[in-house]
Amino acid sequence: MNQHDSDIRMDMPDEAALIAFAGPLAGALRDGAVLYLRGDLGAGKTTLARAVLQQMGVVARIKSPTYSLIETYRLPGIAIHHLDLYRIADSAELEWLGLADLETDRATLLLIEWPDRGRGQLPPADLELLLEHRDPGRHLRLSAKTELGAACLARLKIADNSVA
Ligand code: ADP
Ligand code: MG
Repeated sequence: MNQHDSDIRMDMPDEAALIAFAGPLAGALRDGAVLYLRGDLGAGKTTLARAVLQQMGVVARIKSPTYSLIETYRLPGIAIHHLDLYRIADSAELEWLGLADLETDRATLLLIEWPDRGRGQLPPADLELLLEHRDPGRHLRLSAKTELGAACLARLKIADNSVA
């Protein structure tokens, strides 16, 4: 399957545009998936993850998992793990966390910032999202890596008419 043809590419001229995209994205992820979030520091990964969590129904304050590595939110019907592996120098440091054994069933959503720092210790991605700095704002690219990811992308395209 040529996955690149189906990639979603969007310009996010400001933070509000990115936050607005979290609505349809959360809807598409409602049955669980593994989403890798890539991009430089300040690209907007945490901003997007936080907005997705809010759209999913998290009302508690959402901390960045920069220090805890993982924050888990349990909602009716879905558990969401938000990870930030920025501080990890060597993925072997993560072995004790047992992340590769995290459930990735239909009732679990994983949002993983800096996934490349956890190489070999993480469940494989269904979807990969990249945020890049652009003037103005950011450019977003979302690619499916599995059939489940492709189904999420298809749902997103139906839900959000502005998605190409
Ligand atoms: P990351 O988690 O990728 O390091 P953050 O989400 O923590 O990045 O920070 C992104 C920063 O960039 C925030 O301060 C946010 O206000 C700012 N920002 C400016 N424009 C945008 C945009 N279009 N999308 C996302 N964030 C933006
Ligand atoms: Mg972050």
